[in-house]
Amino acid sequence: MPYAYDPQNVFARILRGEIPCKTVLETEHSLAFHDIAAQAPVHVLVIPRGPYVNHDHFALDASADEIVDFTRAVAKVCAALGVSPGEGGAGYRLIANSGPDSHQEVPHLHVHVLAGRALGRMLTPVG
Ligand code: AMP
Repeated sequence: MPYAYDPQNVFARILRGEIPCKTVLETEHSLAFHDIAAQAPVHVLVIPRGPYVNHDHFALDASADEIVDFTRAVAKVCAALGVSPGEGGAGYRLIANSGPDSHQEVPHLHVHVLAGRALGRMLTPVG
């Protein structure tokens, strides 16, 4: 089933300049900005400029140029924030919530870059 993209989602509005954001990085196909409700000392969102609902939509439908740009934008953000392990940083966690079980709230692909403290185990066990 093809993905239906909602052009009124909050990140589409940020991309159109209708809502402000605290920009970290801009590239041809990607934008990175600080999360409005940071859950770690570093909490940045990286989004593609194209209308992709989630990671699998993007991975299957985006052009190679968009995918390379986006993947490298995430790495550039980590380097700019000083958290890349390859450059002496203490590391980071990437999260890309996709679909209802993941609790995705904004239906435009975004990668959360979380860093700045020890982040603990990946998931809190339930049940
Ligand atoms: P998710 O639950 O993975 O869809 O995450 C959506 C994220 O978008 C949350 O961490 C929100 O705090 C963040 N968010 C929502 N609106 C804005 C906004 N206007 N500017 C920056 N971040 C936002």
